[in-house]
Amino acid sequence: MARVEQKDYVALRESVLPRVRTVKHFIAGEFMEGTSGAFFESVDPATNEVIATVPAAGPDDIERAVSAALRAFTEGPWPRLPAAERARILRRIAELIRERADEIAVVESADTGIPIAQIRDAQVLRAADNFDFFAEMATKITGESYPVDDLFINFTIRQPVGVAGLITPWNTPFMLETWKVAPCLAAGNTCILKPASWSPLSAYKLAEVIRDAGVPPGVFNLVYGPGERVGEALARHPAVKLISFTGETTTGKRLMHVGAETLKRFSMELGGKSPVVVFADADLDRALDATIFGVFSLNGERCTAGSRLLLQKDIYNDFVDRLVRRVQRIRVGHPLDRATEVGPLIHRKHLERVLRYVEIGQEEGAILATGGRRPEDPELARGNYLLPTVFVDVAPTMRIAQEEIFGPVLSVIPFSTEEEALRIANGVRYGLAAYVWTNDTSRALRMARGIESGMVWVNSQNVRDLRTPFGGMKESGIGREGGVYSFEFYTELKTVHLALGRHRIPRMGADE
Ligand code: NAD
Repeated sequence: MARVEQKDYVALRESVLPRVRTVKHFIAGEFMEGTSGAFFESVDPATNEVIATVPAAGPDDIERAVSAALRAFTEGPWPRLPAAERARILRRIAELIRERADEIAVVESADTGIPIAQIRDAQVLRAADNFDFFAEMATKITGESYPVDDLFINFTIRQPVGVAGLITPWNTPFMLETWKVAPCLAAGNTCILKPASWSPLSAYKLAEVIRDAGVPPGVFNLVYGPGERVGEALARHPAVKLISFTGETTTGKRLMHVGAETLKRFSMELGGKSPVVVFADADLDRALDATIFGVFSLNGERCTAGSRLLLQKDIYNDFVDRLVRRVQRIRVGHPLDRATEVGPLIHRKHLERVLRYVEIGQEEGAILATGGRRPEDPELARGNYLLPTVFVDVAPTMRIAQEEIFGPVLSVIPFSTEEEALRIANGVRYGLAAYVWTNDTSRALRMARGIESGMVWVNSQNVRDLRTPFGGMKESGIGREGGVYSFEFYTELKTVHLALGRHRIPRMGADE
């Protein structure tokens, strides 16, 4: 796969975007227009120009998608294929994603504003890896056996569950969609994907890839539309057995409420307000690099962003000085420019929401050390750009230290002791990720055990092996995705009790 040169991304955009100008639902193996006649528009965050018209599914479209997925599950070959055959098709999906990586990356960048330099390899190629990884895992699904003397052998088998509704957010949509679709299909389920309305386009590319890879009709379906209508309809539908949701905590709560009536199985990957705790004894250069990348990459629109920086008082002033100088040099620019480090936020409304938090921080008495406003460059005037923003002297109780801002905004909080750091780290309703920087191994372990989060990185930026479980505690989620943990969600665990001999059976009502 030859890599497209920098200058050609713009040319590629011109040839690729017309092909996604009017996208369609993908149901039962066919791209189709909705029956509702309703549409919404997707805009380029760099210019706020409309780049695509997208159908909004009505009840008939949703019903059609669920019926197709149910038929593919109950009558189609997919759940009954040998695992190795399903794996072969999933690997073909991975190959096609790699072949089309530049095209997918350009579409994703145009639709989300994420810099191309952060999308192609870390997101699109990672998406291909997800399919390869879960293809391999599909052939290794296994069970336990419980022999009981020579009378019984009890054993467990894992079977696909049925139709899954996969509901995804607008941040890094392509990778997150594959993170659900790959294990879901690998386990033999069928699905309906409902992408976020602010970033619908890369899902369309995924549907093309899945069709071209030879996935049978109805196994993967794609419907677009507002979450309150389409997402809730999936959660309400009795034929949908699983809902895997990634998004805001409030939406997740609402979805569980709606799905309770039909007792859905849920996987919930929700919001975060993850702490980065830097002790004075840490490798401060590396801690600085990781802090900056962790909150400002992907435009700060990242669930595991380290958006609260807890700094030990001895190093506070020096570290803040270095931090602010570096943040002021971050290159804000057009997402298709390979030099860009921070691009425009996904949507005008989201920019307004983040700017409101900048006001809130100032009203609360935090000090705005840098950023907090739009860049002056006239070339960026039409886009949803915000300069990378750092608040210092933030109190842990302030809203900017408690609420998920989901943009390029960092809140810096001083602390004195390890106990205080732990108390501040845990003093939020979220518990997704945490990052600890110290050269004291005992302290690192105490912090790793004490922090209330699903994942802790020690002296490390957010790198993840695909085998490890991913997910949050507290209001950051329920369940884990990744590795074998995905299969715990996407399979039904059945116990078979097999009698080997003639064990005693009580004889009720038998003749004397
Ligand atoms: P969101 O909750 O607004 O939307 C997520 C998805 O749910 C979208 O497809 C949306 O259309 C749909 N939706 C909205 N309302 C719905 C409803 N009532 N019923 C059913 N579906 C509904 O989230 P977002 O703004 O798209 O994404 C950002 C959020 O996602 C942040 O909070 C972020 O932390 C979180 N996130 C979490 C993880 C994780 O792994 N924990 C990963 C990425 C993003």
